[in-house]
Amino acid sequence: MSDIFRRLGLVLAAAIVALLTGMISGAVYGWFFLSVVLLILVIHHTRHLIALEEWLLISDHTSTSIPAGSGAWDAVFAHLARYVRSQNKSQQLMDLELKQLQNVTAAMPDGMVILDETDHIQWCDPVAEKHLGINLELDQGQQITNMVRQQSFVEYLAARKFNKPLMLKQMRHHRLTLLIQLVPYGKNQRLLISRDVTSYERIETMRRDFIANISHELRTPLTVVSGYLEMLAAEDGIDSELQRLALTAMQEQTARMQCLVEDLLTLSRLENALNKLHESTVDMPSLLRELYREAESLSAGKHKIHLDIASENQILGSREELRSAMGNLIGNAVRYTPEGGEIHICWKVRHGKGLFYVRDTGVGIEQAHIPRLTERFYRVDNSRSRDTGGTGLGLAIVKHVLNRHQARLKITSTIGKGSEFCIQFPAKRLIAGTLHG
Ligand code: ADP
Repeated sequence: MSDIFRRLGLVLAAAIVALLTGMISGAVYGWFFLSVVLLILVIHHTRHLIALEEWLLISDHTSTSIPAGSGAWDAVFAHLARYVRSQNKSQQLMDLELKQLQNVTAAMPDGMVILDETDHIQWCDPVAEKHLGINLELDQGQQITNMVRQQSFVEYLAARKFNKPLMLKQMRHHRLTLLIQLVPYGKNQRLLISRDVTSYERIETMRRDFIANISHELRTPLTVVSGYLEMLAAEDGIDSELQRLALTAMQEQTARMQCLVEDLLTLSRLENALNKLHESTVDMPSLLRELYREAESLSAGKHKIHLDIASENQILGSREELRSAMGNLIGNAVRYTPEGGEIHICWKVRHGKGLFYVRDTGVGIEQAHIPRLTERFYRVDNSRSRDTGGTGLGLAIVKHVLNRHQARLKITSTIGKGSEFCIQFPAKRLIAGTLHG
């Protein structure tokens, strides 16, 4: 500022000197000189004012685009350049911070909607668009209850209870379960946060179903056992035949509960991520011969069982687990094939894959059931499964064992004609033998 005053002072001093000089040499010349100096001054300032206005009118205000000035304007433009530079710097900083904030918001798994006091959408992020079926471009300013119409949501919004979240199930567009939380925000605004809890909800449902299923499975044998125990305790001198029948029934039910507990323990071991696979070279031909003998004894001569070992290849895996998986499939074939039926057990290698399959001429399975057979406790025919000692966990165990061996289970079946359960082992699990195909 002082620089500007100094320069203006110099100009003024020059004008006064010119005036005095003029007055000394004659009054007319004095006024003439003064007018010329003032005119030069006016032109000088007008030129700079025009340059300043032109600069103000451009959109891109950088310090390099500031016009060059002379005289007092030199200092003004220098100050302006400094000011623009510092403004640009803080603008850049703000842009950077805004970008970072946008990146953080975009990376957040939760959706966010800003609502005004009457629940109109002011802004939302892309996650909230996906969660709640909002299109911000079209729906900005719309009432949120036009997008999310569930009664529970409308009531939650109206209640304004900010301390309690809402669980919202089965959204219109996606089958999502969302946890909705309202937070007071700004002046009479509200922030709606949506979190996708579909997988937690699914796990929770599975846990509930699992407990309900186990309780159901245990209740029947326990009822039978306790009924017989009551009868034996109540009656003195009970008929020995009845006593024998009661003991046999109790033994059967206890064995059933034991099977169930064993299968549950096996499943839990297989599911435990810390339980690593104990790999060794599994001699498939010898394992299959062993399983074939067991099938013969289980069938007790009621079926015609064929064993076809078409490959000497071995498998890299856990013998105990593979025995349990393949034993389950063979056991099922025996249990679900009526007397007189045929069962084929086969081991071969085709197109570099190891194939183990069990084919039966049993009751068969309706197509609709096939995708769900490996679910725990899923049964097509409850009574047949239980009557033949099934726990409903056999195929779930098979699925886990195969997953641990990167193998796949293929099921094909025709109702009334029979079924085929085929395990495909990947080439990397095959250990050289005589390769076929
Ligand atoms: P379960 O102990 O009931 O046999 P699994 O998990 O082994 O349980 O099998 C699930 C269901 O799949 C069985 O209840 C049965 O309905 C069906 N199933 C399995 N194997 C066969 C088969 N070979 N033939 C017909 N149905 C079968």
